[in-house]
Amino acid sequence: MYVRSCFQSPCLQWVWRTAFLKHTQRRHQGSHQWTRLGGSTYRAVIFDMGGVLIPSPGRVAAEWEVQNRIPSGTILKALMEGGENGPWMRFMRAEITAEGFLREFGRLCSEMSKTSVPVDSFFSLLTSERVAKQFPVMTEAITQIRAKGLQTAVLSNNFYLPNQKSFLPLDRKQFDVIVESCVEGICKPDPRIYKLCLERLGLQPSESIFLDDLGPNLKAAARLGIHTIKVNDPETALKELEALLGFTLRVGVPNTRPVKKMMEIPKDSLEKYLKDLLGIQTTGPLELLQFDHGQSNPTYYIRLANRDLVLRKKPPGTLLPSAHAIEREFRIMKALANAGVPVPNVLDLCEDSSVIGTPFYVMEYCPGLIYKDPSLPGLEPSHRRAIYTAMNTVLCKIHSVDPQAVGLEDYGKQGDYILRQVRTWVKQYRASETSTIPAMERLIEWLPLHLPCQQRTTVVHGDFRLDNLVFHPEKPEVLAVLDWELSTLGDPLADVACSCLAHYLPSSFPVLRGFNDCDLTQLGIPAAEEYFRMYCLQMGLPPTENWNFYMAFSFFRVAAVLQGVYKQSLTGQASSTCAEQTGKLTEFVSNLAWDFAVKEGFRVFKEMPFKNPLTRSCHTWARPQSQWCPTGTRSYSSVPEASPAHTSRGGLVISPASLSPPVRELYHRLKHFMEQCVYPAEPELQSHQASAARWSPSPLIEDLKEKAKAEGLWNLFLPLEADPEKKYGAGLTNVEYAHLSELMGMSLYAPEVCNCSAPDTGNMELLVRYGTEAQKARWLIPLLEGKVRSCFAMTEPQVASSDATNIEASIREEDSFYVINGHKWWITGILDPRCQLCVFMGKTDPHAPRHRQQSVLLVPMDTPGIKIQPLTVYGLEDAPGGHGEVRFEHLRVPKENMVLGPGRGFEIAQGRLGPGRIHHCMRLIGFSERALALMKAHVKSRVAFGKPLVEQGTVLADIVQSRVEIEQARLLVAAHLMDLAGNKAAALDIAMIKMVAPSMASRVIDRAIQAFGAAGLSSDYPLAQFFTWARALRFADGPDEVHRATMAMLELKHRI
Ligand SMILES: Cc1cc2nc3c(=O)[nH]c(=O)nc-3n(C[C@H](O)[C@H](O)[C@H](O)COP(=O)(O)OP(=O)(O)OC[C@H]3O[C@@H](n4cnc5c(N)ncnc54)[C@H](O)[C@@H]3O)c2cc1C
Repeated sequence: MYVRSCFQSPCLQWVWRTAFLKHTQRRHQGSHQWTRLGGSTYRAVIFDMGGVLIPSPGRVAAEWEVQNRIPSGTILKALMEGGENGPWMRFMRAEITAEGFLREFGRLCSEMSKTSVPVDSFFSLLTSERVAKQFPVMTEAITQIRAKGLQTAVLSNNFYLPNQKSFLPLDRKQFDVIVESCVEGICKPDPRIYKLCLERLGLQPSESIFLDDLGPNLKAAARLGIHTIKVNDPETALKELEALLGFTLRVGVPNTRPVKKMMEIPKDSLEKYLKDLLGIQTTGPLELLQFDHGQSNPTYYIRLANRDLVLRKKPPGTLLPSAHAIEREFRIMKALANAGVPVPNVLDLCEDSSVIGTPFYVMEYCPGLIYKDPSLPGLEPSHRRAIYTAMNTVLCKIHSVDPQAVGLEDYGKQGDYILRQVRTWVKQYRASETSTIPAMERLIEWLPLHLPCQQRTTVVHGDFRLDNLVFHPEKPEVLAVLDWELSTLGDPLADVACSCLAHYLPSSFPVLRGFNDCDLTQLGIPAAEEYFRMYCLQMGLPPTENWNFYMAFSFFRVAAVLQGVYKQSLTGQASSTCAEQTGKLTEFVSNLAWDFAVKEGFRVFKEMPFKNPLTRSCHTWARPQSQWCPTGTRSYSSVPEASPAHTSRGGLVISPASLSPPVRELYHRLKHFMEQCVYPAEPELQSHQASAARWSPSPLIEDLKEKAKAEGLWNLFLPLEADPEKKYGAGLTNVEYAHLSELMGMSLYAPEVCNCSAPDTGNMELLVRYGTEAQKARWLIPLLEGKVRSCFAMTEPQVASSDATNIEASIREEDSFYVINGHKWWITGILDPRCQLCVFMGKTDPHAPRHRQQSVLLVPMDTPGIKIQPLTVYGLEDAPGGHGEVRFEHLRVPKENMVLGPGRGFEIAQGRLGPGRIHHCMRLIGFSERALALMKAHVKSRVAFGKPLVEQGTVLADIVQSRVEIEQARLLVAAHLMDLAGNKAAALDIAMIKMVAPSMASRVIDRAIQAFGAAGLSSDYPLAQFFTWARALRFADGPDEVHRATMAMLELKHRI
């Protein structure tokens, strides 16, 4: 079977085949009907270089950033920084050397991305022979232009390399004039450089056409009267150029070349065979060309007596019996043609190796259009939509074929297609594995456990993508579906998912070009969900709920293939220089696959039935507690066993046993996860926090985050009332979350691992409640994905900030910006390199009524003017997030970053600090439970004065006192949480628990420390840190006195 042989030399993987071979059926030149506009006569074509003749720095940068894990867009942003006087433009004008440029540019990139950026490696890639190569279509076009007697020129913003030569990876002979900014000391869009070029060409502006990929450069040319063409995609631009010039710029059959010596086939016997086959009498030369990159099954274009044909053959040499099964391709195309599916018309399968040396088949060449770029540049939105609709329709046609009726019932196995595929690709992946890729490991575990229950079996194409379809040149109709090499009988939804791969890949992604960086609504392309819906509607099926599973599966398959390519590149077997680069993308694609697995996990969880979303029913059913027991007397991982108080409570809301079955299941899953993954990781996480690398996030935390996502233990915090459609979070009620939060509180690290840690939780809730769609897209989504972190800046050293109306930082309006000035401190998390958002509170109008003076602005952390000094809490740095004293000096923030509007800050802060703040209390109960558990374990084994400590009356009294205090606090939490009348109505309960929980926790932890002796203060146990945070929370969560004042006010108001 193909799969087994996939990576066998000389078979080049389907990645390559699909990327390149697909052009085997490209439209024959001349079949377009070009019109000449205006009848004007052009005498020269002027080309920009980067982005027109060779790949643009932007596109190279995007690819390089993915590979080097640099935040996307950093390079481009840094290139544009400073405009005319920025380092890039000065480099282009040769005002600085390559070394000087790289130094300045590197610093800029690192400042912008808050990480070290190896710009040297980007520069080497940009100028490497591999990347800096002229597009073959451009070479072809230039030849045609010159053959018609027109002049050609290059007008480029260019630079000098360190060897003092200008960077010009072009054959100079192709051009009559070459104008480079570094030679002239002038850059586009300065009009002087265009005039210089025209002068050297000896032409008037109207006699030339200028191609560039940048709008400002084109505008400047157009202002002088030069005709311009914007180049987004070289091929589309050439079509526009053809229309202006009135002649074709293509030669021969696209994507073909003379047959290589090694790939030659005997022409005479082929000609004889074809004449017999086609019944041709006339003689004439047989024209034979080879399609590029057809290395898996070499493919040839044949022209004989006015017939255009395609021949596809097995490669020469010894092959695995099931490999290169061209017979299957022939068989399925023939069968499907009879069922009305558009496929190339196959003429004959010749299994007689004596004709050309190997078996082959012949089909008719199908002229038409193949869209290589799935974003369909140059088309109208309605046209794009029609193309994707036609693609969907043809897929439905394939899946509607009755295999039995067309003789394909034995074309593949029936049922379990996905499971078989997963096994096959796992095997394939393992065979080519070079290092452990965490996302692949998780997928390998996850996929077989989440197989769709219902799988239909139909004919499947196996690689159904836009660039495998030949379209009618004038209307959105599929003329032929190509490339049936992976076809079999299987689950048709895998094909639907495969046709949506491009939706999730960036346009710069090598091999499989995508469009996830484009606005689909603007393009007119249906989103993936809509595409799936369209398919179900056409097929008369209920909507596909689990399409995220199919996307995860499809990307997993792509990742496995990419890994094979990479392995081959390492062993030097790959037949393409691009192989190595492609293989390195395995990790990127496997992470994409994993994101879909996580989404699917949440979908399943959210769909579990609940009676009433806000007041889920309480059940008396209780499961036995976990059997997990701490080991060893100095175990850092001691966790509480069920207390008798706990187990006796049955269905009370304060007991986990009261939770509805799905949430109870979630609770146990979290408990298991804490035991299996979090507690064992604590010593390593703690030593990371004490190491020199502490200001960067621990890789182990990132790994645990992925595991938590996989388990659906992610973003549990967002209250159902803030997110009733469960669009962003797990949709738990406060009561439900209280139990989970208590569990997470048992480890200092678990909240971050589950993306439930402050201050992100409060900020995310703020964005869900008050953010615009654009603010949500920019900040909320990355925060929910755990990719970035955030901080909240309210407190100021110069004023008593427990009264938020005191704050003084100013937010002043200036043009289309707000200008911020202020001095803040105790800003938690601001030192974390992942921190990209500061939710800033300041005053927009000091003269407005007291509670209408404040506003909240979303400040990107890369805004110039932020100066940070770290603070410590009892000497602890709390790395990597830390707590910072921060000066905001003349920050300019776009107006659209204002939340809700000016004067709404106080209102927002109140909303933010409501439910978000009691999360601390829930976690403090977790701290206390863990401290008590550690204490109990310790006093049982520690002997003093002839008996275990546990037999001392004072120790027993301490244990009992701690239990009572924990339960009292828990009752208060529950009392608040049971109050489902909303945050406002529960204000008294919130104030009470905020006052009670930190001091209760301090006392319980203090008793535990005392029972441990001096060890309790050491870092061998989490007690000292628990104690520190419990104490700090008596400020961080608002001083106790302020809660007391709130309570007093409410008590006197309502209860007299
Ligand atoms: C570890 C930690 C993390 C923090 N993280 C953040 C953060 O991320 N972002 C942020 O903006 N801030 C943060 N803070 C700051 C925290 O919110 C403030 O410390 C808190 O609001 C108190 O303000 P203040 O320090 O200015 O004290 P002040 O307002 O100066 O109050 C000082 C003391 O006066 C007393 N007092 C105040 N009001 C009353 C009253 N009504 N009745 C009686 N006595 C009263 C209390 O004893 C109080 O402790 C953090 C603090 C800590 C310790």
